[in-house]
Amino acid sequence: MNILVINCGSSSLKYQLINMENEGVLAKGLVERIGIEGSRVKHETIGKEEVIIEEPMSDHRKALELVLDALINPNYGAIKSMDEIGAVGHRVVHGGESFASSVIIDDRVMEAINDCIDLAPLHNPPNIMGIEACQELMPKTPMVAVFDTAFHQTIPASNYIYPLPYELYEKYGIRKYGFHGTSHKYVSLKAAEMLGKDIKDLNIITCHLGNGASVCAVQGGKSIDTSMGFTPLEGLAMGTRSGNVDPAIIPFVMEKEGLSLDEVNNLLNKKSGVLGISGVSSDFRDIEEAMEEGNERAKLALEVFTNKVKKYIGAYAALMCNVDALVFTAGIGENSISIREQICEGLECIDIKIDKELNKVRGKETIVSKDLTSTAILVIPTNEELMIARDTLELVQK
Ligand code: ADP
Repeated sequence: MNILVINCGSSSLKYQLINMENEGVLAKGLVERIGIEGSRVKHETIGKEEVIIEEPMSDHRKALELVLDALINPNYGAIKSMDEIGAVGHRVVHGGESFASSVIIDDRVMEAINDCIDLAPLHNPPNIMGIEACQELMPKTPMVAVFDTAFHQTIPASNYIYPLPYELYEKYGIRKYGFHGTSHKYVSLKAAEMLGKDIKDLNIITCHLGNGASVCAVQGGKSIDTSMGFTPLEGLAMGTRSGNVDPAIIPFVMEKEGLSLDEVNNLLNKKSGVLGISGVSSDFRDIEEAMEEGNERAKLALEVFTNKVKKYIGAYAALMCNVDALVFTAGIGENSISIREQICEGLECIDIKIDKELNKVRGKETIVSKDLTSTAILVIPTNEELMIARDTLELVQK
């Protein structure tokens, strides 16, 4: 069966068509600037040349129409007709407390996703638009929702309740939800496979380090804690997000700088993190380059970032007692040799020993730990699309 995986942002749509017989990607692409001037589809059928289709797209329905046309195009398409798409898997950012796993989409599910808009006002609405567009254009094709939050629904209350008045949890659902769940799940399963062990017997710490970054403690295949929280702002310092800061700083800065709620939100989400500290860039490649040229604030930004990751590793080691595997994934985790090295430096005391030679690797599944007796350290390219496709296949086959 071929499965179409859809990931809708407010003005973008990413897609992959995957043949589940061999889990091979048949075609993939990206629609940009939906609803804005200059909208276009970048489409690639594997083995053929990439094409760019420039056409006005007023909404996600029009975008999806062009994607489906591209997929069945006789020259640059991957399939002959839409009948060759057996099911669609949709990435949905927030499932609140309603979804601990992926589900077949029906009216009741749509209602529950709508109910979570309050919790993810920027993410759930475009996800919903993508689902509705698909339902209109492919009314007979089964659809599955795969939630970023679902994997973390196994986190115990002792780790998800904030030390705030309990009524805030009851009234507004203020608690830790966690994000990047599909990625943490994928790489933890892959780590078990690479180590030839049953995931039920493993304690794994997964570090998803991209523009957004989070760490997760995976015990026996279940998430028991993660660094992101009620929103994707909590936890690590990121490209532009502050992560954890003393909450008292927020009203203090608002008063001193005369900031509105929107402005302080923007400061914490868009102007902080390694960009805020370095003043250079949110891209870790630029920061590493600036540091090599002697920029002290770039060096400091990197130290702040790696120290935070290190502290979460220590905290999760304490939660799980012993750690069998430490996994690095996403843009930085997969590609930055020096950041992986810097994070592991000094963690020998908890049996995390990186092999500097083996660590000279980018974007390839590799075990980079020094010896077989200490914690296994793995670099694993994440594959959220494949995880979504696998969940979709499993549910539609039931
Ligand atoms: P997201 O999906 O959250 O947008 P990615 O997982 O694609 O993010 O990661 C993007 C980040 O990865 C970029 O900001 C960049 O800093 C970082 N990155 C990519 N390649 C490298 C590299 N070779 N060295 C350091 N950082 C890298």
